[in-house]
Amino acid sequence: MASSVPALPLNSGTSIPQLGFGVFLVEPKDTQRVVEEAIEVGFRHIDTATGYNNEREVGAAMRASGVPREEIFLTTKLRNDHHRARDVEGAFQRSLDALDAGYIDLYLIHWPMPKVDAYVDTWRTFETFTRDGRAKSIGVSNFLVPHLERLLAETDTVPSVNQVELHPIFQQRELRAFQDRHGILTESWGPLGQGKYDLFGKAPIKDAAAAHSVTPAQVVLRWHVQTGNIVIPKSSSRERMTENFDVFGFELTPEEMAAIDGLDENRRVGGDPMDVNEG
Ligand code: NAD
Repeated sequence: MASSVPALPLNSGTSIPQLGFGVFLVEPKDTQRVVEEAIEVGFRHIDTATGYNNEREVGAAMRASGVPREEIFLTTKLRNDHHRARDVEGAFQRSLDALDAGYIDLYLIHWPMPKVDAYVDTWRTFETFTRDGRAKSIGVSNFLVPHLERLLAETDTVPSVNQVELHPIFQQRELRAFQDRHGILTESWGPLGQGKYDLFGKAPIKDAAAAHSVTPAQVVLRWHVQTGNIVIPKSSSRERMTENFDVFGFELTPEEMAAIDGLDENRRVGGDPMDVNEG
């Protein structure tokens, strides 16, 4: 099946491959192998975080792959405890050092931690990272509409991306509509529901898989792509990586899209950003 990953324009003037590879819960000892395999399979967008404890290994895999640095889009995130401690500049520099990739394509505030109330100040520090070129774009993760509204009102830079939990059971319609209006791209974490729902057993997903001779996981990833989301599935198995990368050779019909849209239960698998104030 043909695979060609679209590049979506970011409000910073650069672009992001719509499909990437996530490395949450990939053990440091496995990370270099897993990321090298993902790059071999064709992924050119890697999503890590300081909190995943595998930045060093991600960077090593990028260098070992032989693929030129500028052909790989690299995201990492500010860890909550550094955010809370207002250690933003130090944390960013340590990520740059660990990754040893020259620059970071996209640096995200991992969680807003509303009770800590540091995210506006943190964002002002993030703005300096794009000014000096150490980050090409900056964005946020797990932000709700009120948090985005504050950044829009009180700072000079609109986030390029908000990376949030999003899958057919939790579709984030209101947040997506807000972000569309403000030129903020929506990035889906847990795109396969982290295996915590019987997503692959749901009739609209199973039926579409049968109709297109693909797997249910491919249908779910294709639904993200056609919805317009950036999507970053994780897998440590080469077979599944290959499957997850191969979602550009078929198209879901409007009826199939509507049936999957109908699965929304507005239910999270992960934490509610209002309640995540630790870490
Ligand atoms: P996911 O929805 O990608 O699910 C991963 C699970 O699905 C794994 O158990 C994997 O074995 C299984 N899987 C993968 N491909 C499959 C396939 N083809 N068939 C069947 N099962 C398959 O969940 P995730 O890893 O939590 O999310 C993806 C990425 O999003 C993470 O790796 C990370 O980079 C990012 N993330 C960000 C946040 C955040 O707070 N910003 C939180 C969680 C995850």
